[in-house]
Amino acid sequence: MLNRFKLPTSKRAQIIDITETVKNCVKESKIEEGIAIVYSPHTTAGITINEGADPDVRTDINSALERIVPRDWNFLHAEGNSDSHIKTSMMNPGQTLIISEGKLVLGTWQAIYFCEFDGPRTRTFYVKVING
Ligand code: ZN
Repeated sequence: MLNRFKLPTSKRAQIIDITETVKNCVKESKIEEGIAIVYSPHTTAGITINEGADPDVRTDINSALERIVPRDWNFLHAEGNSDSHIKTSMMNPGQTLIISEGKLVLGTWQAIYFCEFDGPRTRTFYVKVING
């Protein structure tokens, strides 16, 4: 089953918790054992998994990425969003999660994040749930 979602973002760089959306896909699939693939079809927005309890972690991830990949660096790509492309590769375009006993296998503190690096835009992400 392939689920497609639209996600409006409101900032240039924004990390958005999509954990509940992915959990709902798993629940609706009624699959007990399998995998869920969460995928962003964009070159300037990715998917990562990290701490969901303290929102400061998301802010710190964005701050660190901005320091590591400054927007005003001397990039060749002329669109002005080279930093967004690089940050997306650093985060990955997608993540694979384990489903066991009908639930996502996530650590207590883990959340699934859509990472916008060149917003605001209306983005798309996919959740593919596979039995196996
Ligand atoms: Zn570009």
